[in-house]
Amino acid sequence: MTAEVNTTEGATTRRLDAPWHPLSNSGRGYLSVYFSERLARWPIREITRPGDNKSDPNIETGTYGLFSTCEPGMRNRIVHDGASTIFFLTTRKRGAGRVLSGYYDIGWFTEGTQGAINRDYALAASSMHFIVPIPTAHLPGPLAEICSAPFRTMRPLDSTTTSALREVCDNQPDRTGNYLDEVTRIERFAHSRSGYAYPSWGREEGFTWNNAPEYYQTDAELSKVPNSSKNKKWRCSECSHVIKSGALLKRCPLCKEMATLAPAEATA
Ligand SMILES: [Zn+2]
Repeated sequence: MTAEVNTTEGATTRRLDAPWHPLSNSGRGYLSVYFSERLARWPIREITRPGDNKSDPNIETGTYGLFSTCEPGMRNRIVHDGASTIFFLTTRKRGAGRVLSGYYDIGWFTEGTQGAINRDYALAASSMHFIVPIPTAHLPGPLAEICSAPFRTMRPLDSTTTSALREVCDNQPDRTGNYLDEVTRIERFAHSRSGYAYPSWGREEGFTWNNAPEYYQTDAELSKVPNSSKNKKWRCSECSHVIKSGALLKRCPLCKEMATLAPAEATA
């Protein structure tokens, strides 16, 4: 796998090789809501979310769903429908309403550690554009209502809405660099507090392209794994430890094996 990253007119573009497959673009897209980092100056993902450190949207690698198990349904639909633009929405302060922070233009996909059987596809952007966040209520025309309407984590968009929202973002200067700096700063802060950039993952460092191959699907004998655990407990089939996590992790934080965790049933 090679990743060529070129910067042209403020947008980052690149080409990926196998095991990544090119995604056909139907013109459609998705709105995707993420938890925002309270300690950050820019609305990056919630890296320090207690017991559930967030890795997506992973702007430092331009991926979604490569390192985390977030939104398998949306990732599956994006791959099958060619809905290649993901717009990111988040709430910075409780009760303040959502803001639009930017978008990915997804150019590639590959099977994640949990495989197609679990609808686990990793998505990689061919370009991305993050901006000074815009309150969704201030978006022009019907976009304000479409983006502010109550929905929980994601919402599919038709091609008219997708191109209108892209125009809104493209008319704003690219601030992706500010977001990237903030990811690094918050990871460093978390590391200085706990010795880990991602304590709930047992992960000392942040994410780079060098980590990507560890997260590709390689196990031909995968079985179906539920994506949630009622008691937030997961048992590792490799080291048999039970770990606590808000979300299914792709890698066991103790023995570091991939795709070994499954919900641990409460013991009487
Ligand atoms: Zn383990």
